[in-house]
Amino acid sequence: MGSYKQACIHCGRLVDADARICPGCGSRSPLAHRCPSCRKEVRPGDAACSGCGRALYVDCPHCRQRTWAGERCEKCGKTLLIVCRNKRCGDAQFFDLARCNACGKKLVPGKFLG
Ligand SMILES: [Zn+2]
Ligand SMILES: [Zn+2]
Ligand SMILES: [Zn+2]
Ligand SMILES: [Zn+2]
Repeated sequence: MGSYKQACIHCGRLVDADARICPGCGSRSPLAHRCPSCRKEVRPGDAACSGCGRALYVDCPHCRQRTWAGERCEKCGKTLLIVCRNKRCGDAQFFDLARCNACGKKLVPGKFLG
């Protein structure tokens, strides 16, 4: 045992260093803020990703206000992640992606993450 654990940056719960989801708050990036497109680590407030150059400020699909591209809207608190509807994928993806970065196929937007 003795697997290495770190605190979730969103809720503080200890999670495995390679965890893909936080059991405490359900975050899909518990240990670092990541670019929704290329998954490079980014800092909240960065205007653009240093890896792929995508803008990190978007209009929230729920309240239409400007928000940083985290997992949740800074203004209304709703999730910015949708469930990929491609077969055998079902991963949570950022709502504005053209392509799912889990299965690599064109993202067919499903419902927002519950
Ligand atoms: Zn958490
Ligand atoms: Zn990026
Ligand atoms: Zn919002
Ligand atoms: Zn997918």
